[in-house]
Amino acid sequence: MNRSSSSFSNIDSRQSAIGNPPPTYNLWTIGCQMNEADSRHLASQLEALGFVETKRAEDADVAVLNTCVVRQQPEDKAVRKLTSLGGIKGSHRPGMIIALMGCMVGKREAEDLAERFGFVDVFMAPSQTDALIDFIVRHDAYSHLKKSQAELADYRLPVVNQDKAITAFVPITLGCSHVCSYCVIPHRRGPDRSRMPEEVLREVRALARQGIKEVNLLGQIVDRYGFDLDDGVNLAWLLREVAKVDGILRVRFLTSHPAYMDEELIRAVAETEKVCPYIEMPFQSGSDRILESMRRGYTQAEYRDIISNIRKFMPNASINTDVIVGYPGETEEDFLETMKLAEELRLDLFHIAKYSPRPRTLSAKMRDDVSAVEKERRRTALDELTKKINAEKSAQLLGQTVEVLVEAFQEKKKRWRGRTPHNKLVFFESDTDCLGQLVNVKINWTGPFSLIGTASEC
Ligand code: SF4
Repeated sequence: MNRSSSSFSNIDSRQSAIGNPPPTYNLWTIGCQMNEADSRHLASQLEALGFVETKRAEDADVAVLNTCVVRQQPEDKAVRKLTSLGGIKGSHRPGMIIALMGCMVGKREAEDLAERFGFVDVFMAPSQTDALIDFIVRHDAYSHLKKSQAELADYRLPVVNQDKAITAFVPITLGCSHVCSYCVIPHRRGPDRSRMPEEVLREVRALARQGIKEVNLLGQIVDRYGFDLDDGVNLAWLLREVAKVDGILRVRFLTSHPAYMDEELIRAVAETEKVCPYIEMPFQSGSDRILESMRRGYTQAEYRDIISNIRKFMPNASINTDVIVGYPGETEEDFLETMKLAEELRLDLFHIAKYSPRPRTLSAKMRDDVSAVEKERRRTALDELTKKINAEKSAQLLGQTVEVLVEAFQEKKKRWRGRTPHNKLVFFESDTDCLGQLVNVKINWTGPFSLIGTASEC
């Protein structure tokens, strides 16, 4: 999943029913798309209560940090943010409500955090946004607000889609039961469970009514969707159902795990027109010895077979992957196997992470024996190789016409931005309002990560 930090755009200033300025919230998010989805859900709940967004945390009545601990860097960033909020609250905004949510808050961590950050009012585990709503409506200053309004806000967009979002994330499985040796997520998000299909479809319909054209179904292992539901309810089935929703033009899903990428799912993607031929499936290492130590549950030969099977049904499918370099015990030979696999499979995009031990994981007990310098050398070598592959694959699109779903207008560069079904980023110029439309674009420039072209009319 992507890594990003953001805040949500504003809706127009609304006055509360009693004529006072409406209360404000600020929501800071870092981490994966699951966090983005949780933040959007919380934003919609707060707006249903009558809050409006403020861009500056220091002006907010309610400030929320949605955190990530997959690596040390985002955790450090969140702690710095939180400490600064604590300073603001302590010095001149004693009434500010501060909430901490996301992967920093696990069951076992909440007590320690409460001791460390006494100024935080509410701790919420990932996806548990109701705790803040409960706190607000029980708070003297806001007790006139109605919780039922926020409970109705069960779609993951602001009440008014003022920022004219075209794509949205819809979590369908929560948590993960896999316990890969290096991963902290199962410790923070708990075991995996599926959301009920009718709840997911209701959310997708609500999003379509708000102008959303593309939904991304999310899960740590999204292809395990339905393992705890009725027979026949699985990701293949859900993809076909979501594709039937009026107004939805494209459907994507992520993140896949090689152990669950079966032929039924591949066929559903290949046969359902609105489902994009796009797979995100980490391989993490090309060395079987390291894969076993990571407890990934497959060998490099099995991973290669799955890629062949995907390409048998969808020869041009776009496949993105995650790789970790410098895992404990990774030798030069292990790393060269990763390089070899990357070169052989020629996947479309690589997210490369340098290994760092995370608390309470199995690998944290192993010796982190690859030096920082060597990790960086391996990251750079793999990055150079994969960038070259990306550039060569993008270059194949030169002169071709691709279908682009237009997501936004870049004011600064005066051009439109969108994506192909294969998730390639495309820019083009047009005086017409193309937002949310499918536009044919003839590609006349390619780079490793983006394309530029000329649009037919939109
Ligand atoms: S599959 Fe492994 S890496 Fe992915 S969330 Fe689960 S434990 Fe973490």
